[in-house]
Amino acid sequence: MRYQRPKGTADTLPADTRHWQYVEGIARDVFAKYRFEEIRTPMFENFEVFSRTSGDTSDIVTKEMYDFKDKGDRHITLRPEGTAGVVRAFVENKLYGPETQKPYKVYYMGPMFRYERPQSGRLREFHQIGVEAFGSDEPALDVEVIAVGRDLLKHFGIDNVRLAVNTLGDQQTRDDYRKALVAYLEPHYEELSDDSKTRLYKNPLRVLDSKDEQDQKFVEGAPSILDYLTPEAQAHFDEVQNLLKALDIPFEIDPTMVRGLDYYNHTIFEFMVNSKALGHGYTTICAGGRYNGLVSELGGPEMSGVGFGMGVERLLLLMQGEGVAFPDQHPLDAYLVGIGEGANAATLQVVQALRGQDFAADRDYLARKPKAQFKTADKLNAKYTLTIGEEELKTNTIHVKNMASGNEVTVPVANVTSDFAAVIANID
Ligand code: ATP
Ligand code: MG
Repeated sequence: MRYQRPKGTADTLPADTRHWQYVEGIARDVFAKYRFEEIRTPMFENFEVFSRTSGDTSDIVTKEMYDFKDKGDRHITLRPEGTAGVVRAFVENKLYGPETQKPYKVYYMGPMFRYERPQSGRLREFHQIGVEAFGSDEPALDVEVIAVGRDLLKHFGIDNVRLAVNTLGDQQTRDDYRKALVAYLEPHYEELSDDSKTRLYKNPLRVLDSKDEQDQKFVEGAPSILDYLTPEAQAHFDEVQNLLKALDIPFEIDPTMVRGLDYYNHTIFEFMVNSKALGHGYTTICAGGRYNGLVSELGGPEMSGVGFGMGVERLLLLMQGEGVAFPDQHPLDAYLVGIGEGANAATLQVVQALRGQDFAADRDYLARKPKAQFKTADKLNAKYTLTIGEEELKTNTIHVKNMASGNEVTVPVANVTSDFAAVIANID
């Protein structure tokens, strides 16, 4: 019996994990500069952690969750996104207390699970890199989070991004806007998609997020939330814009943008790219916003948060599509060629000694002919090819060749095993 991986999942093989590690490494470096520290939370949580936070009309909760009863009859969900678990951990570990520095800034990277129709850039197990920052209502923190997202993309070699921002205001704003939206949509009730019919009264903002073509035409003519902002919400949004301008971060305001999750308020944003690698038109690769009610929703005090999530699969498709070069992070320094039975122990000793000196070294393990071994050295892009043949074995020497310059030298084996750096210094 042969098995296939479950639909919507991927095997990431070494040719690709190289790219993943490169992206993750850059992310860690960028986050360190912004003083975000890593947090790791479980890959599954109690169902309520997501149902209470994502909203019971969200696509995630209504259609996409991997949830099940475990053997102890607990209702468990594989995490569909990163924020809710981080907020749960923030509350459970009382990180809101005075012992922790505010804002409390963390990042995560890891798999997320959504039951979706798999297609390019859309999987059932996918990965996000995300940040969350807790404990400040200042617009400057919204902008810090946007800035780290943009900086990340820049470091990934993605320059051509569109940053769309909007505000969902405060509670008053949304109450007022909700009424206006319902009044506008109600006359068209019969023409709305089934999903939107349900949402119209439960959460009309979500109708704006509908991907259904039937709904799209109503979205265009819908009232704008920007006309319903309270003075406080307006001031917050104005300041976010001022600070984005102060940092020379270009952005567009998209008043019809709402986010797929219920927990956002005030600033929301999406980084979008227009690349054939991701299909037609603009695709969102990083999205986030402010979620001031979430900490208290999960049993903590009133404490605000702001964050984003970036889809790693989409990012990688994009980087590959745009021809971003992935540097080889672990190049092969030395490849050992052994000629004849007698060289076996000697080559093994040399590769091991080189590794001990922090060089990446390898040799043949298939008893291949010298010609095939030299070919392998070439194919693996070895910087140096080291050869121990019959002659070298007799004299206890080794031949070292710099593959780039072609310079070569024969030295006592002991020179290589004790100080390879000194040997290659002479042929570089
Ligand atoms: P979409 O509208 O494409 O379904 P979303 O609004 O559901 O996206 P978010 O919940 O905001 O997405 O997740 C943030 C990012 O995670 C997305 O911009 C995308 O890059 C990535 N993402 C979301 N769902 C998937 C998936 N099923 N497969 C791969 N990446 C995904
Ligand atoms: Mg989605």
